[in-house]
Amino acid sequence: MNRSNVMNELGKILGPQGLLTAPEDIADFGIDWRRLQIGRPLAVARPANTAQVAELLRLCNTHGIGVVPQGGNTSMVAGATPSAAGDELVLCLARLNQVRQVDPRDLTITLEAGTTLRAAQEAASAAGCQLPLSIGSEGSAQIGGVLSTNAGGNNTLRYGNARDLVLGLEVVLADGSVIEALRRLRKDNTGYALRHLFVGAEGTLGVITAAVLRLVPAPRQSEVALCALASAGAALALLGRLQRHDPAALVAFEYISDAAMQLVLRHIPDTALPVAAAPAYALIHLATPRPGSDLRAGLEQVLAEAIEAEDCIDAVMAESLAQQAALWRLREEQSEAQKRAGASVKNDISVPVSSVPDFLARASAACAALIPNIVIAPFGHLGDGNIHFNLVQPPELEAAQFLGASETIMAAVNDVVRQLDGSFSAEHGIGRLKPAMLAAWRGGAELATMRAIKQALDPNGILNPGKLFPDRVERDG
Ligand SMILES: Cc1cc2nc3c(=O)[nH]c(=O)nc-3n(C[C@H](O)[C@H](O)[C@H](O)COP(=O)(O)OP(=O)(O)OC[C@H]3O[C@@H](n4cnc5c(N)ncnc54)[C@H](O)[C@@H]3O)c2cc1C
Repeated sequence: MNRSNVMNELGKILGPQGLLTAPEDIADFGIDWRRLQIGRPLAVARPANTAQVAELLRLCNTHGIGVVPQGGNTSMVAGATPSAAGDELVLCLARLNQVRQVDPRDLTITLEAGTTLRAAQEAASAAGCQLPLSIGSEGSAQIGGVLSTNAGGNNTLRYGNARDLVLGLEVVLADGSVIEALRRLRKDNTGYALRHLFVGAEGTLGVITAAVLRLVPAPRQSEVALCALASAGAALALLGRLQRHDPAALVAFEYISDAAMQLVLRHIPDTALPVAAAPAYALIHLATPRPGSDLRAGLEQVLAEAIEAEDCIDAVMAESLAQQAALWRLREEQSEAQKRAGASVKNDISVPVSSVPDFLARASAACAALIPNIVIAPFGHLGDGNIHFNLVQPPELEAAQFLGASETIMAAVNDVVRQLDGSFSAEHGIGRLKPAMLAAWRGGAELATMRAIKQALDPNGILNPGKLFPDRVERDG
């Protein structure tokens, strides 16, 4: 069957709503959020249900057509971007967007892969529960994408990564067969925990069509504070104080360097710094479902002790939900502010939590030595040892010139990461941007095992070609 016959077959499977082919309709599906990769989709499939996903994959597998699963397309590593050759089908899951069930007794939510994370949070909240996963892109990111990247985000410190919330999955394999494992069990030791293969697999092993996630009881009380600090070391000391005080209540501890804060204040309207300017800031979020808790008094006490010990220079506690949101905005708008500030080189790294100050000092020195006036604007999830060590172009360099030095800059940062036994990709994954690094860092038996799994589940290499592994499986036109 030639390609146009395959497209006709696809049209029959998906119906008139389900297949986009006009260049003006499909162009945006080919461009990643950072606008670093301009791909060209063969077409965009928009199936309405799992059966259509299965038929589509069966057809593409038979004819060797690459399929790129795409959720909200917010990947930081161009994970959902098709190749520029125009030979890969984008599989958009947006029409599979039903929340099928929220069960407050079992504390579970069963939902389809195209549901946005925010819609899932809202459904949980309407039932008196909380889906304890929060990322800056949650308005667009979809459950399928969030699971396929094993997203981390703001609450990892308390509730773990996306992986830790998954109880069951429905997944369509490359050959169109369906793993129907939407189980809601807390315990289920029945062979390999296959769901964990697909979480973090970046769409290279199967297409997630639905999931069962764990919920927690909704918080009754929450407190948010922003602290101005003398250094990253002071931030670490403050984290330790909070953990010793009430580890169960600490749901987020976010670090923002002064350079990163200044970018938000400059580029994002209606933002203001409510504390004294300082070299570093920490955003603290405490929450509890416990009735009558003295959360606020406890936080005040910890902050007073930190000020007394000169760990903390200044602090403000939100007085209302609106103020909590305003403080969180200073953190959540970091990626958008950096996008508006110009070209940036992003390093999503992790090191042991105690090594963060050392990492920041050494990586900053290495980058400053490479490019004079480079804007070193790190921020991130300090409580998880995960820093977005981002560098923004200095005013005197053109974007292209700056981006031309990306590899050198990333190599310098990663040298420090290696010395501290860290990871070059903490939560954003590999995508199209980092396969060479995966090969360099996870070679030997680790990469060989990953390849063996890929070969077993997707022998024709149709699922998200060119991602994760450093070689694209070329197919006949
Ligand atoms: C402003 C901003 C803030 C962010 N903050 C965070 C953060 O705090 N923490 C964090 O971890 N990430 C963060 N990210 C990165 C990104 O949003 C997350 O990785 C998110 O989980 C991706 O979801 P998505 O639906 O947009 O997936 P996409 O970008 O569409 O896809 C991501 C990967 O998943 C695959 N995929 C998508 N859907 C499926 C499916 N149904 N089945 C199989 N594979 C699929 C794709 O092929 C691709 O490999 C942020 C991004 C932005 C732009």
